[in-house]
Amino acid sequence: MIDGHTRVCGVIGNPVEHTMSPAIHNALADKLSHNLVYVPFHVETGEVAAAVKGAYALNVLGMNVTVPHKKEVMEGIVEIDALAEKIGAVNTLVRTEGGFKGYNTDMPGLYRAMCSENIRMEGEDVILLGAGGAARAVAFLCAEKNVAKVYMLNRSVEKVRMIAQEVREKTGKECIRPMALSDYPDLPDKKYLVIQATSVGLFPDEDRAVIEDEAFYKKIHTGFDLIYRPSNTKFMKLVKARGGKAYHGLKMLLYQGIIAYELWNNETVPEDLAGEVYEILKEKMGIKDEG
Ligand code: NAP
Repeated sequence: MIDGHTRVCGVIGNPVEHTMSPAIHNALADKLSHNLVYVPFHVETGEVAAAVKGAYALNVLGMNVTVPHKKEVMEGIVEIDALAEKIGAVNTLVRTEGGFKGYNTDMPGLYRAMCSENIRMEGEDVILLGAGGAARAVAFLCAEKNVAKVYMLNRSVEKVRMIAQEVREKTGKECIRPMALSDYPDLPDKKYLVIQATSVGLFPDEDRAVIEDEAFYKKIHTGFDLIYRPSNTKFMKLVKARGGKAYHGLKMLLYQGIIAYELWNNETVPEDLAGEVYEILKEKMGIKDEG
């Protein structure tokens, strides 16, 4: 019930209309009996700082920020968390003295999602596909989690080289090996954890994978696709066809939301509740069988 004490949270983006975030946060508020409502805000490029300042003035409790505003939002905040600064993208705003402080919960969200599936990064050799905003953040996560080697493959290899250099400068780690996407046959012959962070295979372009050659999939023991729409991507199908385990990105979405909710409410969300909210998300996405 909305009354005079109801706190407001929301997500700003463009487009924002098909966001799953309200489903996560309103379910959490409901189950934790918090008087809180979470709504989408469509904000135009160039208006982000004004929107953020207005939200602060309106006593909005917290905000998420989605594409294309994760960089522009930095113009409207008064402080930035060290991890978000390294990654160069903010997806969560938390109230602080005089304005919002920016965080990045996408990467901790991916890490928590992988932990919940018992996927280890520490000490592993990882193949990272892509060099866009998401892959850039995953590269920093790999460095932070002491991944042994990250073979980072992208169509435009120059982007990977820039990310590798930034990771080296900001973390002191030399773990990224930049490669062109087409050079995948040169990968040392062994089994890898592969994180698929390109947008190839995203709805409605479901019949494509960024690498289609089945020989590549022999090298994968675990494939984690950041895409969750569809929930069984072509990349995942190819991994499973060669005997590997495959996961989609819905748990990453869930946990980035949960970490934001925890920051806003200064409260830890228990794992069983995370599981209940995940079931709600799966139902909304029409995901029945994870096999
Ligand atoms: P982005 O910045 O637009 O980057 C897109 C990436 O895909 C680039 O590496 C790009 O390569 C590559 N790519 C696009 N079309 C390609 C093609 N035809 N062939 C080869 N490579 C191609 O996107 P992003 O923000 O990083 O997001 C990437 C994916 O992660 C999206 O599908 C998004 O839905 C997903 N994601 C999921 C979550 C979650 O919570 N689960 C969070 C964030 C993102 P070039 O650099 O060569 O163009």
